[in-house]
Amino acid sequence: MLPEQTPLTALKGVGPGIAAKLATLHLITIQDLLFHLPLRYQDRTRISPIAACRMGTELMLEGEVLATELVFGRRRSLLCRIKDASGIITLRFFHFSAAQKNALTPGARIRCYGEVRVGKTGLELYHPEYQFIAPDQVAIVQTHLTPVYPVTEGLQQPRLRALVDQALGMLGDGERLVDWLPQTIRSDLGFMSLTDAIRFLHHPPVSGATGSMLMKLADGQHPAQRRLAFEELLSHRLCLRRLREQAELLSAPPLPLRKHHTVQFLRGLPFALTAAQKRVCREIADDLAQSNPMLRLLQGDVGSGKTVVAAIAALQAVENGYQAAVMAPTEILAEQHFVNFSRWLEPLGLQVGWLSGKVKGKKREEQLQAFSSGGAQIIVGTHALFQEEVSFAKLGLVIIDEQHRFGVHQRLALREKGATGHFIPHQLVMTATPIPRTLAMSAYADLDCSVIDELPPGRSPVNTLIIANTRRAEVIERIYHACAQGSQAYWVCTLIEESEALQCQAAEVTAETLRTQLPDIAIGLIHGRMKPREKAVVMDAFKGGLLQLLVATTVIEVGVDVPNASLMVIENPERLGLAQLHQLRGRVGRGAIASHCLLLYQAPLSQVAKQRLTIMRDSNDGFYIAEQDLQIRGPGQVLGTQQTGLMSFRIADLSRDSGMLDEVKIQAELIQRKYPENVEPLIRRWLGDRELYGNV
Ligand code: ADP
Ligand code: MG
Repeated sequence: MLPEQTPLTALKGVGPGIAAKLATLHLITIQDLLFHLPLRYQDRTRISPIAACRMGTELMLEGEVLATELVFGRRRSLLCRIKDASGIITLRFFHFSAAQKNALTPGARIRCYGEVRVGKTGLELYHPEYQFIAPDQVAIVQTHLTPVYPVTEGLQQPRLRALVDQALGMLGDGERLVDWLPQTIRSDLGFMSLTDAIRFLHHPPVSGATGSMLMKLADGQHPAQRRLAFEELLSHRLCLRRLREQAELLSAPPLPLRKHHTVQFLRGLPFALTAAQKRVCREIADDLAQSNPMLRLLQGDVGSGKTVVAAIAALQAVENGYQAAVMAPTEILAEQHFVNFSRWLEPLGLQVGWLSGKVKGKKREEQLQAFSSGGAQIIVGTHALFQEEVSFAKLGLVIIDEQHRFGVHQRLALREKGATGHFIPHQLVMTATPIPRTLAMSAYADLDCSVIDELPPGRSPVNTLIIANTRRAEVIERIYHACAQGSQAYWVCTLIEESEALQCQAAEVTAETLRTQLPDIAIGLIHGRMKPREKAVVMDAFKGGLLQLLVATTVIEVGVDVPNASLMVIENPERLGLAQLHQLRGRVGRGAIASHCLLLYQAPLSQVAKQRLTIMRDSNDGFYIAEQDLQIRGPGQVLGTQQTGLMSFRIADLSRDSGMLDEVKIQAELIQRKYPENVEPLIRRWLGDRELYGNV
């Protein structure tokens, strides 16, 4: 049996319920689970004295339960005080059963692991994992680092760890992970085998130098990680090349610039295009006139004016009797585009269609009808546009706005939706994620790239300040004054929790606290676990000025445009990648008022963190920031790549691993030439069919 074909239900204890939860993490087969690598590790190889607890550290404690009580504050929580020879500390639980509560009786001995935070009772261990220790039991500690996986609701770390262990156990007997990196390449590059790398990363054995190994792992520099990262980059490169080759076999309708709608549109605009906008418009116009499909990435910093460029490209398709579809990753963004496009294009006598998951019943029928009859020339929507039932009369151009979660090549594959025979539409992908030029050159060698490297005139740059959390009261004061003067503000909560649920909880707690501290200010809350409709209500209230302060997790939508918002507080900014910080900060500074961004960090900051925040303070240029980030990226960066926002890799990180790209290119060519049969399995392993079609 091959792990890529064995469903997870083959594991003991995995029934349909657990399988469904695993599926939300995109884990379907044994191989998926084996490749579900830890986000980070915990060192549970030693027990620390309670007296050693410091704010922000994670450690393992062992002690005797003194008392357990239920407290009903803003949130119900269970507090359990434990003591050891060195001191006393409180454990705080938010989710617990009656049985759990009853078992934590005075005198019981427990071993627990968690993060130390400051709570109502002083230092507290937040929601620790724990186990009971019998009185005569000798303290057995782990001999391996403990993995921390991305999890989902109802599927906690211990369960996932046990399942991974089971899957690893199967690798010995019968199941075999095929190594698609040929042996010659592996030995040339000094790589360990795939199975060894996977085994190691799930259970790094502890040797003498645990600290330095943890650092290496945290930096993605361990040979096991580098071997996998290399294979992943290689697979992506092979995939990009294949898409490009396939595209070259296909044709697209030539859509020459006819200067009809486009000229009319430009005349009606209240501003002139910047030189950079004009340049990229020309690049796109030239591509569209060709009979082979455009594959172009449009990069431009937040606020650089990509939407106008998209509208001009769309009009060029319409001038030639074709339709253009514009897709955005979220309802809010898509709707914003719909409003803009309608406002701009309806005066030209064009019909703008609209589709999202929320459009139902008769309205939906009408829209679908307008798309398939050609009644709507420009169609704006969410992923709903790529559903089976949607068909277009004559789709000439697909424009996809900002979608970090998918790699560029995956987005490009979406274009196949509009294909008819050998004809496929042209495609333009817009991103505000600045990709350093050096990287873009090697990583996207197969993709055409246009860059808007200039902001429209008259923007006031955002003034960024770095402030320690100890000065929180001043920050709150500032919010009060800004709101009192009629401005609006964002408060962004960040956490490194692997669970989105905990992130959202943290935002809820922050919103509650701020409501008591700022009773006169109308405060709203938005986070990733709210229903789209609930989110829309909150966003509308904020846009309309009914809410003055919006507390949000990092999900606040890229591209949200509220010009009256002039202040943003980002909590624990040291935990985010600079690209993401820059994106967030782009939500302010959209109007005429001078804007501020306060980076409220948790002291003490590491040297590298200090350096990174300083870059944020000193520059508003996304490309410069990305280049600098690339140079100083160092410890403190969690494993994985979600934080970089560059591309969706599981293990590789374009910034961190850019040094490998030349070798990747060489080996990709070698594999295509000498081992063509390995290409498909590599792509399938790392990108999978599901990702190719951008399933969300
Ligand atoms: P982004 O590139 O982040 O998507 P937008 O397209 O939303 O940026 O543009 C940001 C704002 O700048 C919009 O209000 C838009 O109308 C305005 N804008 C775009 N181009 C220009 C320009 N050349 N001069 C002045 N304002 C512009
Ligand atoms: Mg935009």
